[in-house]
Amino acid sequence: MRLSRYFLPVLKETPAEAQIVSHRLMLRAGMIKQQAAGIYSWLPLGYKVLRRIEQIVHEEQQRAGHIPLLMPTLQPADLWRESGRYDAYGPEMLRVRDRHDRDMLYGPTNEEMITDIFRSHVGSYKDLPLTLYHIQWKFRDEVRPRFGVMRGREFLMKDGYNFDLTKEDALHAYNRHLVSYLRTYERMGLQAIPMRADSGPIGGDDTHEFLVLADTGESEVFYDSEITDLKFGDRDIDYDNVEQCQAVLEEFTSRYARTDETHDEALFAQVPEARRRVARGIEVGQIFYFGTKYSEPMGATVQGQDGVKQPVHMGSHGIGVSRLLGAIIEASHDDRGIIWPEGVTPFHVGIVNLKSGDAAADAACDALYDSVAALGLEALYDDTSERAGGKFATMDLIGLPWRITVGPRGLKNGVVELTSRRTGESEELPPDQAIARLATIYAGL
Ligand code: ATP
Ligand code: MG
Repeated sequence: MRLSRYFLPVLKETPAEAQIVSHRLMLRAGMIKQQAAGIYSWLPLGYKVLRRIEQIVHEEQQRAGHIPLLMPTLQPADLWRESGRYDAYGPEMLRVRDRHDRDMLYGPTNEEMITDIFRSHVGSYKDLPLTLYHIQWKFRDEVRPRFGVMRGREFLMKDGYNFDLTKEDALHAYNRHLVSYLRTYERMGLQAIPMRADSGPIGGDDTHEFLVLADTGESEVFYDSEITDLKFGDRDIDYDNVEQCQAVLEEFTSRYARTDETHDEALFAQVPEARRRVARGIEVGQIFYFGTKYSEPMGATVQGQDGVKQPVHMGSHGIGVSRLLGAIIEASHDDRGIIWPEGVTPFHVGIVNLKSGDAAADAACDALYDSVAALGLEALYDDTSERAGGKFATMDLIGLPWRITVGPRGLKNGVVELTSRRTGESEELPPDQAIARLATIYAGL
């Protein structure tokens, strides 16, 4: 993309309404625009990152064997009357009435609807196990929407639902989700720690939340510092293999890690003092096992091997897709702006032309731009007539992890400059070597 043809409405001033750094930077970098409290338009740069995050979530869900579908945002109230949650949910639910006076709601989550789909089409144990998921907008009329996309009223969530014959099978689905989430967050350049949590209005006994450590997080967390040394890395997991998933689960959940809701001082005291940490965290996901809480009242049953109908065991599993943008920025920025991890960056590299209009510089930039595209990568090429300082400031603000700087002086010696946004280190290289470096950096991402 050439910047002269793009829509990147960066702000020079720091917006007064933004209290935390990720919100400030998203506004300044022209990623979002607030339309009402907790409701945002996603401007092109923000939308690009949102799509990258979604893409990673899709890939990792499908790697784990989960099947995508898409359910609507508006739901009939009657489904929620069946589960008893229409009255239980309270003022967070946005209720609307259609022209025929039918009660509808903007879904805050989809347990009821997915259970309805299941009961309409599945009747036998032979169709299990089954995990369906979608990435769809949710609405929760939060009392205090704040921190930009971090606590919105309308927000994008991946929510998945498993259907299993037995509790044991459903617990494997739970473990499988935990493992796939570890990989998902790591691909986004994040460390998200699974912590034992409280189930809230979803209900059920078993639940873990995934938390990204950040001072601006809304949850207080207590953990054994050894956890932060764990890496999921490039493990080749067979997601159907019960023992393999269990082993990963044990590795990542056996040390003390809890949110304030489930915190137990006596247990925490058993962690060696030097390793005890009290910090703040951002919840970026949660997994639940809740058994037959929805399948029983809603009649989601299958015929077992013995011919007897039984309610299926279920769980639900959420990732805060839009919140993740805020969480990633909280975890990865400096005083000049955002620093995108390579896995989610909106453009893979920025090209800065120090002298737009200079024939040699223009030609070199055009050639680099084409070479980046030939690698299957995307460049944002600042071809405007802005002065160099302004171009650098914009690139630093929007946080592309790599920048290639092209100027007449370097070109005379046959080199351009490749700069890492994270370290600030620059290297002079012939253009083809800079391209080769990018190919290596992004290989496998
Ligand atoms: P919270 O405790 O932060 O209100 P929750 O536990 O009610 O969240 P879940 O039902 O577990 O949320 O939803 C799954 C994920 O969706 C959460 O882990 C979070 O990342 C994201 N999420 C929930 N509420 C919001 C919101 N208001 N704005 C943005 N993302 C949200
Ligand atoms: Mg939650």
